[in-house]
Formats: sequence, structure tokens, C-alpha cells
Amino acid sequence: MLFIIDDILEEMAIEGKRYFSPHYIISIAKQSGQILTLKETTNHLLSLVGSNKKLQVFYEVECPNGDNDFPISSPLELSNEERTCHLCHVEYIPSPDRVWVYFDFTPAYKNYLKKKSLVPEQPQILALV
Ligand SMILES: [Zn+2]
Repeated sequence: MLFIIDDILEEMAIEGKRYFSPHYIISIAKQSGQILTLKETTNHLLSLVGSNKKLQVFYEVECPNGDNDFPISSPLELSNEERTCHLCHVEYIPSPDRVWVYFDFTPAYKNYLKKKSLVPEQPQILALV
């Protein structure tokens, strides 16, 4: 059940959260008793990425010591040339297994939620007995 991800995203966007990882979504879902896998969560979030969609995605390459060394626009553009971490100066070859994925909300989605919250609620339809 991935609908919960959309609910969580909406709440986070309203609260003004930014730059979150799939792990964060998983931990929120867990609090309401839903167990999500990293793979399904990441894939669902990636399916929401686009200029007219909810999310934008960011990738950052981590060095062997756990520093966020440099951003890339896609894991596919990772070269396997040795480089030096700009923080701890260790030499390493970037690995696709050590790329962090972050998401943020698109301006389009935030505007949509803003407008939505201004729309008065529909009157409740009462059941006639
Ligand atoms: Zn480092």
C-alpha cells in the first residue's frame, strides 16, 4: 500500500519539510504501522519526480568515510575515476552503491497545496434516514 506515501508527502509539504530521504518516509510510515521497503519507497518517490509532479530528486556521492563529497544529477553519470574527497581528502573511486538520494518538493506542488488549502471545504452531505 503506497497510498500512505502520498499522505505523508502532503503533510510534510504543508509542514514545510525539505530535503528528505526515502528512509525518513519509511520511518514515518512505520509510526502508523505500515512497513515499507527501501526499494518500493524509492521507486514510488522517483515516479513522482518531474517539473509538473510533486518532487525533485538530488544525488550525492559519499566517500568511504561517510562524507557527502559531491552532487551529481544522475547515478548514471558516475565516472569510475579515482578522486579525492574534498572533506577528508581520502582517495577513492565513486561507487553507485554509495550514492545518497534526496528529494524535495517542486514549487508546483507547494503552490497546489497552498491553493487547495484556500478552497472552502465541501458541505457535508447528510444521510437522510
Ligand atoms: Zn571524505
